[in-house]
Amino acid sequence: MQGLMMQQSLLVSALLTHAERHHSEQEIVSRRVEGDVHRYSYRHLAQRARRMANALSTLGVARGERVATLAWNGYRHMELYFSVSGSGSVLHTLNPRLHVDQLAYIIEHAEDRVVFFDLTFLPLIESVAPQVKSPKIFVAMTDRAHMPQTSGMNAMLMCYEDLLDLHDDVFEWPVLDENSASSLCYTSGTTGNPKGVPYSHRSTVLHTYAAALPDSLNCSARDVILPVVPMFHVNAWGLPYVACMVGAKLVFPGPALDGKSLYELIETEHVTLSAGVPTVWQGLLTHVDAMGGTFSSMRRTVIGGAPCPTAMTEAFQQRHQVEVLHAWGMTELSPIGTVCSFKAHQQSLPMAEQYTIQAKQGRALFGIDMRIVGSDGNELPWDGESAGDLQVRGHWVTQQYFGADVESPLCDGWFPTGDIATIDPHGFMQITDRSKDVIKSGGEWISSAAIENVAYLHPEVSMAVCIAARHPKWDERPLLLVVKKPGSDLASDELLSFFNGRVARWWTPDAVVFVDTVPLGATGKVLKNQLRDQFGDYYLPA
Ligand code: AMP
Repeated sequence: MQGLMMQQSLLVSALLTHAERHHSEQEIVSRRVEGDVHRYSYRHLAQRARRMANALSTLGVARGERVATLAWNGYRHMELYFSVSGSGSVLHTLNPRLHVDQLAYIIEHAEDRVVFFDLTFLPLIESVAPQVKSPKIFVAMTDRAHMPQTSGMNAMLMCYEDLLDLHDDVFEWPVLDENSASSLCYTSGTTGNPKGVPYSHRSTVLHTYAAALPDSLNCSARDVILPVVPMFHVNAWGLPYVACMVGAKLVFPGPALDGKSLYELIETEHVTLSAGVPTVWQGLLTHVDAMGGTFSSMRRTVIGGAPCPTAMTEAFQQRHQVEVLHAWGMTELSPIGTVCSFKAHQQSLPMAEQYTIQAKQGRALFGIDMRIVGSDGNELPWDGESAGDLQVRGHWVTQQYFGADVESPLCDGWFPTGDIATIDPHGFMQITDRSKDVIKSGGEWISSAAIENVAYLHPEVSMAVCIAARHPKWDERPLLLVVKKPGSDLASDELLSFFNGRVARWWTPDAVVFVDTVPLGATGKVLKNQLRDQFGDYYLPA
């Protein structure tokens, strides 16, 4: 028997039509770069997305062509998510924190036809535009009253709201091949040039289903979701799509990502779920603790992109009754691979054991399979001890980077993540390092993540980074770089003795260096390679 069930392409546009039909009055709130707060509903989102789809067609953008955005989280960006992908072109989100040369490289490599940008990024666009040949049209995401004066861009500059005004909202979303590309995001390129990861309509919709499930991000029509994670970084972890699928209220923070601005937004809009990297949450917690506040509506926060220190989990859960969902993913995974939510028997464990579990990156979502392999290529046991190269495969894992000049990254059908991890008998994966960040002391591995985790337990530590420094006897030894909290006079001996009994003695760093800041990359992650260049010879004789 065949053909019993309907065959419908899994398409990004279907998420929007569903939201328009079933949640038309649900709200979308955005802090704008123009300085005010904007509110409308999914009905308006859908109407304006159709008008923009008509505009793209007038601009001559063909199916499969790339349309780039350089924008914060906001409603116009959301409209482009659907108008570009829904009409069959490819939404290419650009990361504004990249260097101008890297941005120019990416725009040329992707052959972007049009670049939409938020006003904040005008100076960046003015530097990039003369360096690129492909886009001939730049669109400022604003209205006529706020249009900037600019010259020398060597390309056409248009106004977003003018474009919308010229078009009506009658547009039928085409039925596309579900395996065609819907969006494109480049890796941050800490080694070599960034690589483009194209997501398909099918992979995006399947990722959306999986992300919304109770043991994933647990999203529903009763939620108010604040994606702090940028829409330019792997589609804000898929939350704009999830919100459409479940009909949640969406709150977009725009450019203000400091603790005070986020806290005000969370409270005034009654946010229930937020998502972001640990460095952003550090700012939020510092602000809330300093003012003696707490969260009246927020119940869950997704923390990922870098290890979530236990001290942060404790602060959210114990002081503020906000459940932490520690998640792991990467650009090549759309991005979510694992989420740390308890199994039934773990809910009654003592608090300390629960925190040990929550320091792990969690269990694979259905749709992702994972394994760890040793240096001989053989699979390692799930004993929570053996650490090996983490490999994944599944419906939303890339098998081919964008462009003909790039080789397939797969090994025997598995994607090598570059992360080193353990997996315990319950299937909880824990990242111990990036393969290039790993510390190898006397032939044995030391987990820099575990050392950072201990340092963060110290009340006077604001940021902690552990790197491998070359050592005359042991090859490498851990070196701890620390940013102290304001006003602290913490001494290195005191901090090192804090490690006694908390990690194996030989894992304790040989030294601590106090620094004022640590370099952060385009996605808010610590640039350990820069710190290794600066401090890598610390233990070698001068
Ligand atoms: P990106 O592709 O820029 O999103 O970076 C992906 C990489 O970030 C992963 O391969 C990990 O090394 C790291 N990463 C993401 N989430 C976590 C996490 N929860 N804990 C530790 N590392 C993480």
